[in-house]
Amino acid sequence: MNRLGVHAGLWGFDWSAEGAERAIAGASAARYDLIEIPAVDRSTHDVTVTRRLLDAYGLDAIVSLALGFDDDINTVDPETSSRGEFRLLEAVAFAQEIGASLVTGVTYSAMGRYDRVGSEKGRLNSLAVLRRTADAAARSGVALGLEYVNRYESNLLNTAAQTVEFLSELDADNVLLHLDTFHAHLEEVDVTDPVSIAGARLGYVHASESHRGALGTGAIDWRRFARALADAQYHGPVTVETFSRAIVNPDRAADLGLWRTLWRDADAVAAESYSFLYEQLRAPETSLTGKETK
Ligand code: MN
Repeated sequence: MNRLGVHAGLWGFDWSAEGAERAIAGASAARYDLIEIPAVDRSTHDVTVTRRLLDAYGLDAIVSLALGFDDDINTVDPETSSRGEFRLLEAVAFAQEIGASLVTGVTYSAMGRYDRVGSEKGRLNSLAVLRRTADAAARSGVALGLEYVNRYESNLLNTAAQTVEFLSELDADNVLLHLDTFHAHLEEVDVTDPVSIAGARLGYVHASESHRGALGTGAIDWRRFARALADAQYHGPVTVETFSRAIVNPDRAADLGLWRTLWRDADAVAAESYSFLYEQLRAPETSLTGKETK
C-alpha cells in the first residue's frame, strides 16, 4: 500500500506557526502519512517550528515549489536564472532541515502561461541548473521531482514522454518524474498512459481531480488509474491535491486559477479524500477491462 499524503494548500498556503499547525494537525487527524509543504523563505522563517510540529504529529514531509517568471530557469537571462537556482537550492536546504526527502513541483520552468514556444537555449539552461541543483540535493540526501503540467502552466514539460526525455538528458539518479492526474488528464491520451511511460522514473503522484475539486467528483477514472499504479508496481507516495478559493488567499488563488469555490471545509475534504484514495489503492480492480471501450 502506498503512503498517502495531503497538500498543505488544502488548509491554505499560510506557513506561519499557526498556519503550519492547522495544516499538520489537519493532515494527522485525517490519518495521512505525509504532508506536502510549500517551500518557505528561509531568511524570515523559523524552520524549527515546522520540524517540531512534524515530530509532534508523526508526519513525514515533502517540499514543493513552483518557479515564476521572475525566477524562471527556462530562460537565457542569467539574472532570472540565478534567482531560480537560488530558490531551488533554498528549497533543498529547507527540505534537509525539516527531514523531507523530496523537493518537487514546477522546478524546471515558470508555472504560468508562456506567450511563445520554448527555446532550445532556455531548455538547456534549465537542464544545466537542474544538474547543479541535483548535485547539491544529492549531497543533502534529498531527491528532486519534475512535475509536468498542462500547456497553460508551462511550455517546457507537458507530458510524461517529454519529461522522460528531459530526465534522460539530465542524467541524475536523484531526479524523478512527478505525475499529477489533473495535468495528465488534460494532456495525455489516457490518464493511465503516463504511469507506464514513466516506468521506474515515477517517484511521486498528485491525486488531483479533473476540475481540481474533491476526489471522486470529476472525470478522472480512479479505478483504472489505481490499477495502472499497481500494475507498474509503484510503491511511492500518492498525495491529494485540491484547493479552495474559500480558503487560499486571493493572490495565490489567482496564481492557481481558482475562480470558483468547489468546497469549503478542508478537514472534511481531507478525511473524505483519504478514504476515497485508500479504497482505490487498497484493492484495485484485477484488470484494466474497459480500456478497449474508451
Ligand atoms: Mn500537482
